[in-house]
Amino acid sequence: MSGHRGRPAQLVSFASGRHVVLAMHVGLTGSRVAVASLEGVIIDECLVETPVSAGPSAVLDELFRTLEGMRARAMPRSIVAGVGLALPSPSELMDFGPTGSISGAPWDEESVLQQVRDRFQAPALLDRDVSVMARAEYARLDPAPDVFACVKLGTLIDAAILVDGHPLRGAGNLAGQIGHLKIAGSDAMCSCGGRGCLNAVASGDALVRQMRAAGVAVDHVRDLVALVDQGHGQAVGAIREAGVHIGQALASLVTLLGPGSIMTWGYLSDTGSSLSAGIRAGLYADALPRSSAQVRIDQATLGDLTGVQGAVSMATEELLRPTVVDRYLTSGSWLAALPDG
Ligand SMILES: [Zn+2]
Repeated sequence: MSGHRGRPAQLVSFASGRHVVLAMHVGLTGSRVAVASLEGVIIDECLVETPVSAGPSAVLDELFRTLEGMRARAMPRSIVAGVGLALPSPSELMDFGPTGSISGAPWDEESVLQQVRDRFQAPALLDRDVSVMARAEYARLDPAPDVFACVKLGTLIDAAILVDGHPLRGAGNLAGQIGHLKIAGSDAMCSCGGRGCLNAVASGDALVRQMRAAGVAVDHVRDLVALVDQGHGQAVGAIREAGVHIGQALASLVTLLGPGSIMTWGYLSDTGSSLSAGIRAGLYADALPRSSAQVRIDQATLGDLTGVQGAVSMATEELLRPTVVDRYLTSGSWLAALPDG
């Protein structure tokens, strides 16, 4: 029993609908944005099909305008409490744009954060897309494994590894780049300058290029996914083979780190059984059997919303810390309450 007299507990409740959190999940070929309540419930969301190759100014301008329109419709008298952003890794952004001369500027995280703060006059929080998605999915796992991996199988392949719920960052924030693990027997050129990387043989980008070289008319990974859905023989074969290579790369991760659960997310993940059969074949062939027997592989349960839901949670976790709420109540400004956010 403690006899000390601290500050009396105060229960603060925010008027429903008065404060909103905005989320942006920037993808290489399209982005998803969402408006959510301060409790973390998504009120509205949509896909914006501007690729990152258009450059940060064009992409951010489109996302900002879309979010402003959504907020005005859903919560016209609301205050933006904060903005959560999920962004591809710097190396992915470098590989994918901007390639044209129109936008010029490269993607720079600090500059992106500042533009968000300036536009919405609210704190902005940013993390790598795979880390944001991993945290959103991890929060739903019961029981939660010690080691968890979230693997993005989209235009490029990337992964985040959580240990006891915390992202494994590594030196230079470079841990988890499964897309650059080497696949035996391949010498395909990768954008990193190396040969035989998983990204060069099994990413959405690589598969679209392979299909086009084989004379199949596809412009986007979505076209490939549609062909797989229709049972197109070449597309199904390509996806299954990609799955085997992805499984081979996951075998290294499984043998080395022993995750209890792996979630997959992204366009390729949406192809279902063709891909997952390949992944299991590659994984079970190459991983230590006792390790691969321990791991569950599932599709991300939040689907397309995984990134924006994770970005909303990242923002609300910071905004609702007691010290931040105290500073907001004193200053009346979320930006003043979380100036570095
Ligand atoms: Zn590479």
